[in-house]
Amino acid sequence: MRVMAGNRAEANLAEFQRRLLHWFRVSRRDLPWRRTRDAYRVWISEVMLQQTRTAAVLPYYRRFLRAFPSLRALARARGERVLGAWAGLGYYSRARNLQRAARIIVREHRGRFPAALDAALELPGVGEYTARAVLSIAYGAPFAVLDGNVARVVARREAIEGDLRAPARWKKLQAIADRWLAREAPGDWNQAMMELGATLCTPRQPRCGECPVRAGCRAFRLGLADRLPERRARLAPVRLRIAAAVLVDVGGRTLLVRSSSPSSGRLGDADGGLGPIFSRMWHFPAVSANGDSRAELERFLASKFAIRGARWRELAKLRHTVTFREITIEPWLVLVESLPPGTGRAVALERVPRMAVSNASRKIAVAALAARREPFPSTMQGCTCGC
Ligand code: SF4
Repeated sequence: MRVMAGNRAEANLAEFQRRLLHWFRVSRRDLPWRRTRDAYRVWISEVMLQQTRTAAVLPYYRRFLRAFPSLRALARARGERVLGAWAGLGYYSRARNLQRAARIIVREHRGRFPAALDAALELPGVGEYTARAVLSIAYGAPFAVLDGNVARVVARREAIEGDLRAPARWKKLQAIADRWLAREAPGDWNQAMMELGATLCTPRQPRCGECPVRAGCRAFRLGLADRLPERRARLAPVRLRIAAAVLVDVGGRTLLVRSSSPSSGRLGDADGGLGPIFSRMWHFPAVSANGDSRAELERFLASKFAIRGARWRELAKLRHTVTFREITIEPWLVLVESLPPGTGRAVALERVPRMAVSNASRKIAVAALAARREPFPSTMQGCTCGC
């Protein structure tokens, strides 16, 4: 009896694999990273797709590979150039880690993405998911991936309840994904599972009627597809106000600052302690504001940069979101005779939107450039220089 049940389970699994692979091969979306098995290109796509929608990734993927067509080109490039090519995609640690990893690969793996799982996992920014995705797609290695899309498909097919990200449950989901892996085509299989989760077995309103593998799906049979997986309790967002100063001297140059160490993030640091909000890239001097943003910014500029007697203009507020933080940025255009020396980087304000800066800094620069083109009123708002 047990042998028969085992045979039936194997036959069901084989049928599931056959149907899903067939569906993927005839109806997959045509994406540029699916036209290659080159490990470098697969790796770039997998890193870009982390926490970013496919449609948003497409232009960045093409541009990035035009700028850095090979792993060696990426390893050789200046860090600022890499961040510039990444600018707008967010989560800049991904770009920094990509380049650090590329340099390690050139140094220690002769420029080839390592084929062994443990060696891949030692690279900065390469976790279980990325390593398994690259190795299975580029090298056909027998590793099943587990990301949010795959976890949802597994949980629904097996009618698994509870928080999928709970460590024990995630481990169980990975074990099931490993068992289901089609060993003759691991790369296609992983992409088929992800494609199913991204296009039909979606978080809301799964399209079970079109699903090629609904036979054998417990959630479908039990009418639970809409209810699984259970929604995670959302953390209440943290609201922050930030006052930022676009200092501009008579030559049209502005001052950018940056956290000197990755652990910097305390108020009172040279950059106002807001490095993480600005993705640890060059940004305008800023402080966290609790009351009168102008007064707090003035105090900050006076104490950190000895700036007094400047001409101020308020710019439109900006909204910005970084993970669980909802940030309101209150930018000010501050005209000064000269920029404080030795406190950061002086660059032409016009250049800032084209530099490797975060989206928040870019938006502030664009607002400041627009405001600068308008004449300051003869009686300056809040001017303290006696003009
Ligand atoms: Fe997902 Fe529905 Fe397909 Fe089951 S039948 S795998 S719930 S889309």
